[in-house]
Amino acid sequence: MNEAVGQQPLFDKLLIANRGEIACRIARSAQRLGIKTVAVYADADAHALHVRMADEAIRLGPSNPSESYLNGDSIRRAARQSGSDAVHPGYGFLAENADFAESVEDMGLVFVGPRPTAIRAMGAKNAAKQLMEEAGVPIVPGYHGIEQEDDLLLAESRRIGFPILIKPVAGGGGKGMRVVWSEDEFNLMLGLARREAANAFGNQDVIIEKLISEPRHIEVQIFGDHHGRVIHLFERDCSMQRRHQKIIEECPALGMTDEFRAALTDAAIRSAQAIDYAGAGTVEFIADSSQGLRSDRFYFMEMNTRLQVEHCVTEEALGIDLVEWQLQIAAGLPLPQTNAPKNVQKCAIEARLYAEDAANNFLPSVGRIVRARFPESIRVDTGVETGDSITPYFDPMIAKLIATGNSREEARQTLKKALDETEIGGLITNLTFLSHLVDSEEFVGGHFDTNTVDQKYSSTCSLQNSLEIIWALGTLALAGQLEKPHPEMGFVLWQSHQHVITFEHDETRVEAIIDIMGPNHLSIKLNNKQSVQCHRLAVPYWRLNDEEIDASNVRVDGHNVFVFLNNIHKITPIDSRIQAQREASGDHIVRAPMPGIVRSIVVSAGDSINSGDSVATIEAMKMEVVIRAPIKGVIDKICVEPNAQVAQGAEIVRFQDARGEPA
Ligand code: ADP
Ligand code: ADP
Ligand code: MG
Repeated sequence: MNEAVGQQPLFDKLLIANRGEIACRIARSAQRLGIKTVAVYADADAHALHVRMADEAIRLGPSNPSESYLNGDSIRRAARQSGSDAVHPGYGFLAENADFAESVEDMGLVFVGPRPTAIRAMGAKNAAKQLMEEAGVPIVPGYHGIEQEDDLLLAESRRIGFPILIKPVAGGGGKGMRVVWSEDEFNLMLGLARREAANAFGNQDVIIEKLISEPRHIEVQIFGDHHGRVIHLFERDCSMQRRHQKIIEECPALGMTDEFRAALTDAAIRSAQAIDYAGAGTVEFIADSSQGLRSDRFYFMEMNTRLQVEHCVTEEALGIDLVEWQLQIAAGLPLPQTNAPKNVQKCAIEARLYAEDAANNFLPSVGRIVRARFPESIRVDTGVETGDSITPYFDPMIAKLIATGNSREEARQTLKKALDETEIGGLITNLTFLSHLVDSEEFVGGHFDTNTVDQKYSSTCSLQNSLEIIWALGTLALAGQLEKPHPEMGFVLWQSHQHVITFEHDETRVEAIIDIMGPNHLSIKLNNKQSVQCHRLAVPYWRLNDEEIDASNVRVDGHNVFVFLNNIHKITPIDSRIQAQREASGDHIVRAPMPGIVRSIVVSAGDSINSGDSVATIEAMKMEVVIRAPIKGVIDKICVEPNAQVAQGAEIVRFQDARGEPA
């Protein structure tokens, strides 16, 4: 329903300079407010949901972001051609590009965001920290000066005290940050950080920060108007992260006290006032939670001068529409005087569903979504439907699931149920991982910081002893043994005496022979070597040899099984015929798993390599992906040049296998 019937809409026509879920989400609010919407699209998105939803759509260019959603000229042309009177940038792409904002205003159109001066002030981490220090906002102890000599940076790091964190001044998305634990690795890490920063942001300057222990990422949603007023809309906790990127966010933050919240929101408002802020913004803080949340232990990290991916948890917890507020402020209206939320009414939790392989270092995946089904019981913000594709050109986020409840536990259970009811077919996603995470004791109990996910699922954990446990759990799951048995029934395989299952884990082929020993006891022989005695205890516990194991850490996902033990293990059943074919043909070519840019080649012709050794790195979807050798051998030929753009399946290197047979 058009709520604005009878009133003048805020704008006549809004051009949405973005794609995916955020473009759809902005269009929904605009349409409800009686504003006509214009979508723009790259070729890969010609039939995307955001294009279909809008009142009109204009092509920007080829699928490469620099020729489409990052191309300011094309977007301005589309705005002119469609007769739009305002431009909403969404997040990412041009949202924090002050020159773009300025050029939109120069055309006489409204940029739905802060003034260009405010964007510029927060654009670089060094200048932003300087400004915040002057405004009396607590900042992370560190160095954020202009001088960048190695010796000076080292001396500053000594002064701050190791461990320290090196951050690119132009950073974003967690990229280029390096932790330095001790002085002897400082030069190495500085070199790596600078190279990554130069590649990703075209600027190799860095700042140095003290590494905060038990860090929690708590940010404040703020809003300013063009009449000099700034308010806060409470906080979000975004400490559930992998590799410094958020995956689960919530509002309010756990363990919040009135005193801490007052200090935090005060600091956020001061940050925004210092740059005369108008519109929606987020001030990100890092809190040292080693002694709980203390009002003298939180520090400004950065300010994002835009709508944030996780803005939805604020909307659900407070019952407001932040895009509507953005449009009102952009139209020159003052912030609501009376009905601004005074309390957080509800609890909301968001999980980000990505096309990525949690068991393979969260490597992004691409492909066609052959089935997408989301539960109707909760808010789902998405830009895709069945039949759409996740392409290598853009961020691999598929959807955000946002659950709301009267308590955190109620919201958590609703989210868990919704994740389990969600079906995505056709490509690898982090759905099973999210479901496991939302149910993990750390998340349930609120005992987590920004390192928890990386620590709990770290591949550096020693696994030698538990490998047989992982394989045994995978075997039990593939054999259907982990489902709750009928008390009388014992094993479903009771009649068939022996059972063989073959699967692959971490590029190792495993043959498991299952012997039924009794109603609650079976024996598994792995690759004709280790044998694991499996005793069923009270559900969900098992005793595997001498270890008691909670089998709820094992989840079946389509035909794969995930075992969450020290790390994320994917067990894929294999059809023995496919495997035989693969071995016969010999895998003597390493190919690009996805389109991207070759960043480095770390082998030369003649090198001997082992299976799993890194061969090259490719940058795709803002990530550096390490390409590894599938089998042992000797490098024959390097097929690409560094910095070359490669297609999916392109040959990277050829080699001879250990027996000396060429490709
Ligand atoms: P949030 O804090 O809301 O998760 P991020 O800063 O991580 O936001 O990213 C927000 C959006 O901007 C995401 O869509 C992300 O892909 C995009 N983004 C982040 N950093 C960059 C970058 N350096 N270049 C282009 N897009 C980026
Ligand atoms: P980006 O611009 O890439 O988003 P941020 O400065 O916002 O970079 O930091 C991203 C994440 O890195 C934070 O959410 C936090 O997990 C971690 N982090 C940043 N600064 C520190 C610090 N000083 N100590 C510990 N962790 C930090
Ligand atoms: Mg950040």
